[in-house]
Amino acid sequence: MISQDIPLVELHRHLDGSIRLETILELGLKHNLPLPGKTLDTLRPFVQVTTPQPGVMAFIEKFKWMTGVMVDYDSCRRIAYENVEDACREGIDYIELRYSPWFMAEAHGLQPEGVVEAVTEGIRAAEQEHPIRVNQLGILSRQYGPQIAMKELEAELRYAHEFAGLDLAGDEEGFPGELFRDHFRKARDAGWHITVHAGESAGPESIWQAVRELGAERIGHAVRAPEDPALLDFLREKGIGVECNLTSNVQTSVVSDYAAHPMRLFMEKKILASINSDDPGISAINLRYEYEVAAPKAGLSPAMIRQAQENALLTAFLTEEEKTALRRKKSTGA
Ligand SMILES: [Zn+2]
Repeated sequence: MISQDIPLVELHRHLDGSIRLETILELGLKHNLPLPGKTLDTLRPFVQVTTPQPGVMAFIEKFKWMTGVMVDYDSCRRIAYENVEDACREGIDYIELRYSPWFMAEAHGLQPEGVVEAVTEGIRAAEQEHPIRVNQLGILSRQYGPQIAMKELEAELRYAHEFAGLDLAGDEEGFPGELFRDHFRKARDAGWHITVHAGESAGPESIWQAVRELGAERIGHAVRAPEDPALLDFLREKGIGVECNLTSNVQTSVVSDYAAHPMRLFMEKKILASINSDDPGISAINLRYEYEVAAPKAGLSPAMIRQAQENALLTAFLTEEEKTALRRKKSTGA
């Protein structure tokens, strides 16, 4: 269950993996795109995951129906606006939305800078109309390689004040973090926080690398951290946040089922693990589902779920003053 006295915080949600099925259908029909279905029911199986996929990259294939409808900057603006609106409807008080501008721009030849501008406008408009706080995280997509990642970073740095942090996502096995040291140094120099998808398809060494060489303060997934007990101690001692994504990990076959997920172990070890949704539009879930269904299935006790909710706030890329303000708002209901 979600505790009503603690701000509800989502740290790991991909804006480009979180598009309403209705919006995909509407934009697809409006722009005459070759959608595989012309109704919600016929389109759904192509966009959403209903059975476990053979791996992370097979899951990422589903994104083509998300980025496929980003035909212009108006679409990007709308998608960003709806992301915030949906998060608010889920009862989220603060959300960090992440996306790869290059990935979003690629399908229809948009400019990454233009994507950032449109997303920023959409988020700002929604923030004004809804009682929710939003921060953006830039993503570098590993699979484009270090050169394009540098261009992607430059596009994001042009709007440096719009981002709270930088993330590395995509093909972890094929493109290890070593390739991106310079990128993350630049991001840290810009004052950004750092989170990295690691230990999802690669082993504990990928997590060590992300913390030691890229400066990660949080790790996305870290599912394979338990293979190295020294790493678990390290994560706890350094206060590194772990963004768990339970349903996503089941759907990408990173774990065999909910019960096999290491989140319970993270909580027992007092690691700052949190519950997140990853790609709600693809996984056909939301954050409430992760708290109310997925977390109990993963063996988390009500006390652990409450602590995980607290951990999300503790490891959010916010100042102490901002965290206090969120708590105050929650307690007064203002
Ligand atoms: Zn992710």
